[in-house]
Amino acid sequence: MSSTVVAELRDITIAFPGVKALDGVDLVLRAGEIHALMGENGAGKSTLIKALTGVYAIDAGRVVVAGESRRFTSAADAQNAGIATVYQEVNLCTNLSVGENVMLGREVRSVVGIDWKATHRAAREALDVLGLDIDTKSLLSTHSIAVQQLIAIARATVSQSTVLVLDEPTSSLDRGEVEQLFAVVRRMRDSGVAVLFVSHFLDQIYELCDRITVLRNGRLVGEYETAELPPRELVAKMLGRELAQLEAIEDRAEHVGGADAAVPVLRVQGLGRKGAVTDASVELRPGEIVGFAGLLGSGRTELARLLYGADRPDAGSAEVDGRPVRLTSPRAALAHRIAFSSEDRRNEGIIGDLTVRENLVLAVQAQRGWARPLSRTQQDAIVERYMGPLGVQPADPEALIRNLSGGNQQKVLLGRWLATEPRLIILDEPTRGIDVGAKAEIQRAITDLAAEGVAVLFISSELEEVVRISQRIYVLRDRHIIAQVVNEEDIDVDRIVAVIAEEKVA
Ligand code: ADP
Ligand code: MG
Repeated sequence: MSSTVVAELRDITIAFPGVKALDGVDLVLRAGEIHALMGENGAGKSTLIKALTGVYAIDAGRVVVAGESRRFTSAADAQNAGIATVYQEVNLCTNLSVGENVMLGREVRSVVGIDWKATHRAAREALDVLGLDIDTKSLLSTHSIAVQQLIAIARATVSQSTVLVLDEPTSSLDRGEVEQLFAVVRRMRDSGVAVLFVSHFLDQIYELCDRITVLRNGRLVGEYETAELPPRELVAKMLGRELAQLEAIEDRAEHVGGADAAVPVLRVQGLGRKGAVTDASVELRPGEIVGFAGLLGSGRTELARLLYGADRPDAGSAEVDGRPVRLTSPRAALAHRIAFSSEDRRNEGIIGDLTVRENLVLAVQAQRGWARPLSRTQQDAIVERYMGPLGVQPADPEALIRNLSGGNQQKVLLGRWLATEPRLIILDEPTRGIDVGAKAEIQRAITDLAAEGVAVLFISSELEEVVRISQRIYVLRDRHIIAQVVNEEDIDVDRIVAVIAEEKVA
């Protein structure tokens, strides 16, 4: 591998209102390498790419390209300096031909204007170099997104880019398409281009990349040679934990419920949706708390959304109480008494301008239909039943919910779904961003629920709490379930991290 540095970002800081997306981050790209940029969702990967490609102005730090300090003011500006970017949403002209797209802005000219024959010939050559057999006269729109991405890469070769940036290019591609993309990316590398590659798929990183830069919470964790960073350490760095310091959780909650009892409330087999989840089989039994563990982006939320009918699967089957069903909408799921509390508390959860009472009764009201408003007495009964036991503070049902702390808002949300008397409740990040006291109360409420026979699916990015309260844990990685772990004495966070990284558990 050549070690010529073609581009470097030094000490980059970018702040958005209320959030420091990047805080003093470095990135060094060398000619002839494929460089992975890794980090959980929100770590700052896309922002760093946009700092490099001129989409965002940087607040502090330096961008050096080909040895010169630069300040790009637009993506076109960066493009002219040799930095090509291929997004998942391809930025090409669908109504032009493949050849015109490859050569856009670099058409071959003669004295009388564009020489189309020569232009298509040049496009053909560019495609040939990458091993792409695509008719240059065909319309771009007749090709799949996967092929359009390859055409975008061919365009980068024509503009003689020295850096090729790929931000999650593979998220919607099938295996064959990924192979083809990788072949093209390797050719780019071998021709001396520095490729920056972002993907959630760990396997792809190890298959393709020479070097890895890891970000966490807008900060640089470090830069590593892929060969010197085993998957388990990569995962630990992304999660921000020192493996040596991982301790077993002592105070694991008492496990109740009938794991191998009754018929599952919900059982799905081979459930999938292109670009989201592949081949997932899950069983959720009465009285059981089941956890989903995996990195952000591993498919936890996507799978939960399929289970609840918020997104439609394109493969697989589902059964409720052993009978085949089609969960085609959240409404259909609720009719089977399956409730789902979204991770997105602000947008899909609380309604800030309504009172605690109004927020609490919302799901029951929706279930009945808006034409039959709940009486005040019925509302009072719901308030009475859930507000006190969940410990909502202040204990005033007429308070506007936006004035409550995050933890108390979360308790109201939980109460809202419990009021529908679900047999299965899916909780996506129910304790995110709330204080430890509220967290413990919610965990307690969840174990109480299970003790009453409700099946609970618990999703959290904090492995400690998943391990603490779940009886069984499905481990997800790269958008499918890679393992099912029964939570017995010897299971701790360290083991789960090892499973996520797909190493043999000793
Ligand atoms: P990643 O690509 O690693 O998932 P991003 O770079 O998209 O992460 O986001 C980093 C952080 O910056 C997140 O907290 C995100 O919410 C925030 N952020 C990103 N873009 C914007 C924006 N345009 N305005 C406000 N906040 C943003
Ligand atoms: Mg991103």
